[in-house]
Amino acid sequence: MITNVAILGATGSVGGATLDVIARHPERFRVWAVTGHHQVGKLADIARVHQPQVVGVTTGQEAAFESCYGDRCAEHSRRPEVVSGTAGLEAIAACPEVDTVVAAIAGAAGLPSVASAIGAGKRVLIANKEPLVMMGGHLMSAAAEAGALVLPVDSEHNAIFQCLPTAYRNTVMGQPPQESNDTAGGRYPWNVAAVTLTASGGPFLNTPIEMLAEVTPTQAAKHPNWSMGRKISIDSATMMNKALELIEACVYFSLPPSAVQILIHPQSIVHSLVEFDDKSVLAQMAVADMRVPIANALAYPERIASGAATLDLAAIGSLDFLTPDRQRFPCLDLARVVATAGGTGPAVLNAANEVAVDEFCEGKIRFTDIVPIVEETVDRIPFSDISGVQQVLDADARARTLAKEVSSRHRL
Ligand code: NAD
Ligand code: MG
Repeated sequence: MITNVAILGATGSVGGATLDVIARHPERFRVWAVTGHHQVGKLADIARVHQPQVVGVTTGQEAAFESCYGDRCAEHSRRPEVVSGTAGLEAIAACPEVDTVVAAIAGAAGLPSVASAIGAGKRVLIANKEPLVMMGGHLMSAAAEAGALVLPVDSEHNAIFQCLPTAYRNTVMGQPPQESNDTAGGRYPWNVAAVTLTASGGPFLNTPIEMLAEVTPTQAAKHPNWSMGRKISIDSATMMNKALELIEACVYFSLPPSAVQILIHPQSIVHSLVEFDDKSVLAQMAVADMRVPIANALAYPERIASGAATLDLAAIGSLDFLTPDRQRFPCLDLARVVATAGGTGPAVLNAANEVAVDEFCEGKIRFTDIVPIVEETVDRIPFSDISGVQQVLDADARARTLAKEVSSRHRL
């Protein structure tokens, strides 16, 4: 049976990698819907090649998309239905014809559509980590209730997912376990002792700390190993990406922050590790290519060709690992505090970071202002328990307003 896939954020880096994997398996997957934001020309190209039933655009971009599509396609070719705005994204995510939703929008903007896909009980492949950071506990409970299968695409979490015992995986991903929970005296289920997220350390791993105040957005967005969207690339330079991933790992694998460690691994070959109570450590390795975790999540529990290159360890020679410098990357400690506090804290951290990254990219603040702006915003907004999506969106809005105010004091 063919699987209908909706790709939210199809014009982005993860969206493009997903389209590439799907195109390798036309007998298995059909692109049912694609969405984009401002790049209507690119979206029209994708629609021409992949022939989706539905296209989602930002409100006000409908005519621009139609015109781009018209320029690229023959008169008689079938036009996709065009929907728009957040309501359009939510409708695609919950559409009965859709089997699998790939959440590849960048930032908090992806929350409503991720919640919609989960609520509709879909198989949901999540690259878009921000919604999980904002209200992951609620989303995972909603998944269990609706029978949604949540699968991690973020490479570290996909690596951990691959290393975990099947029974653990089924429990944490909202599916009924195949055997009864057995901690056998361990602290966490199935004798998982801890997980370790690897991090490349970004472009400034070895830059003298006193030079960081002068780095430009272009330098900060130049990731050594991965080609990614601008926001996640800047997050990799501050290591806020790893801070968000720490919170994401707690959500996916039902672990406390103390059971999630971070290790710098500049080659990005070992994508993460799981340690068990007997001190065995399992790791997943592959070349740094997002098509690997995407193919894994698309086909799980089967395995399909991803298009990635073969890992040649002899050619790489050696793999390095080091403890992150907490002074250079202060957001790692901040993430632990916020993850432990819970409630609306992670949503506030995420929103403040989105504001600070935008301001840095616009040349308004320095690179070294990003984390202090996030820290002050987090300090000044009291966290509360989460009752639902609206409350999280309210906390997000409040944090954005305050972060802008804090940022104005740092303006260059
Ligand atoms: P990107 O910037 O390349 O693409 C983002 C996509 O989201 C685009 O299609 C864009 O049109 C869409 N989008 C952005 N703002 C939107 C809005 N307000 N409304 C609707 N659509 C909007 O980003 P990316 O690198 O592909 O990352 C996407 C997500 O996946 C992020 O959450 C990122 O953290 C995560 N992720 C990315 C990678 C990677 O290798 N790129 C790896 C792991 C996780
Ligand atoms: Mg990652």
